Amino acid sequence: MKTVISLSGNNDFFLSALATCELLLRWRRNSLTSSLILTVIFWLVVVLPVSANHSQQTPKLPIPFEQHVLSYTSLSTQKTLHQTSGSKVAKPINFRWYVDEWPIMGTEVSARIHHDQAEEARLLLKHVREEMQRIDNTYSPYKPNSELSRVNRLASQAPQKVSDEFYALIKKALWVYERSAGAFDITYASVGHLYNYRKAEAPTDDEIKALKPAIGSVGITLNDRHQSVYFSDERIKIDLGGLAKGYAVDSAITLLAKSGIKHASVSAGGDTRLLGDYVGRPWMVGIKNPRLVGASSNNWEEQQVMKIPMINEAISTSGDYERFFIDDDTRERVHHIIDPGTGKSTNEMMSVSVIGPEGFNTDPLSTALFVLGFEKGLELIEKIPGYEAIFIRRDGQVKYSSGLVNPE
Ligand code: ADP
Ligand code: MG
Repeated sequence: MKTVISLSGNNDFFLSALATCELLLRWRRNSLTSSLILTVIFWLVVVLPVSANHSQQTPKLPIPFEQHVLSYTSLSTQKTLHQTSGSKVAKPINFRWYVDEWPIMGTEVSARIHHDQAEEARLLLKHVREEMQRIDNTYSPYKPNSELSRVNRLASQAPQKVSDEFYALIKKALWVYERSAGAFDITYASVGHLYNYRKAEAPTDDEIKALKPAIGSVGITLNDRHQSVYFSDERIKIDLGGLAKGYAVDSAITLLAKSGIKHASVSAGGDTRLLGDYVGRPWMVGIKNPRLVGASSNNWEEQQVMKIPMINEAISTSGDYERFFIDDDTRERVHHIIDPGTGKSTNEMMSVSVIGPEGFNTDPLSTALFVLGFEKGLELIEKIPGYEAIFIRRDGQVKYSSGLVNPE
């Protein structure tokens, strides 16, 4: 998936520098002092203001801390990580990592499994691909034949019977909706479907005003007996993008575990689920620097702000850098996490990561905490046992939930 950044001003800066060169050339022909004075005035009046404007538009690194490794306050987690790091795992020579990467759901998927048979490993990776493709085909709002598109088209006319899986996804969404006091709300899409980040398009204020009353999961009626979904308003649309990838990485890992795999990782964009450890030591999962994402450096380490040792868990990061554009008029970052209260993207956080046993929870929770922000987000995650969070605010301030410690 590509992010769209519309920056202007770069050319102005370049042209100004060229003009300065020309002024300096004149110095050779005319008197030294008058040319120098002219050059200084030119830089003060034209070049510096343009360059200041340019630097405002260019994403800068606002994070005042060094890269570091987090640890956990929980003694049992620390013990597990420690024991794993110290354990001597027999590594039969034929075992190695098999890796596959491919684009899906508007993002990059990567799967890695530890196996001793090349053929078997490739077959399993193929099954992972197929499983994730199936999930995308079912829940994509962009595919007219997906089950989700059918529900969006018809659920306000009559209750729509859905699969067990679809029903479970909606139930999960409603659970997070309630826990987050409406911050996570799949009906955000009633307005949200009008955003197109690749084309830098957003709904107008009038469009938002007309559709915002349709946002609110209270408008979704479920019938457990018939396993059906009904919308009370014809303007309601749902989108499961806030939890489908976490669900997909869980499904892939379940498939691999059932096939006897002991060590694996599956990531889809900001959602990762790990199986076991990294053969004798914990996986070290990095959290991206939200303003260095996509930087030209190939150095993975440089693009991370912190690393977390993890075993057998999931981590999801919601960031304002995944899909966004900069509004030409307001210079605001318009991104893909929408506050259901306003129908617009939120502007307090840059990145929120949630760690815990299941991607099916970490994914919607990271989106919910992103909308809730520092204070309310922290309050919510502290109430959910087994789950931790890392918040990075727009001003670069960082907060951790109580189960994580930032070693000084
Ligand atoms: P990503 O999909 O990049 O991993 P997130 O997990 O944070 O990022 O989910 C963002 C996605 O969630 C959006 O692309 C959209 O599909 C959906 N979404 C956006 N805002 C909300 C919201 N308030 N509640 C539920 N889902 C949302
Ligand atoms: Mg999410």
